[in-house]
Amino acid sequence: MPAITDPTLHRAPTDMIACPDPACAAEARIVDRWTFESTNGPVEQVKTGCERGHWFTPTVDSLGLQPVPAKASPSLASVS
Ligand SMILES: [Zn+2]
Repeated sequence: MPAITDPTLHRAPTDMIACPDPACAAEARIVDRWTFESTNGPVEQVKTGCERGHWFTPTVDSLGLQPVPAKASPSLASVS
């Protein structure tokens, strides 16, 4: 059985954000994230699903998230 080892597909820690739907105040879970090349350079995009069943694929830039956390934030640190 061949092992599926794609170095470009690594699991990121689960992030919770506010649902991109402005009419929805629920938290949304980032279930997937990837980067694609645009004319202006690489753009990181995520797939989010909130508890109310809203699914979005916004860009990280539109969410105001940092693609790579530059500093530790206790409030955003994943608790496992
Ligand atoms: Zn929602």
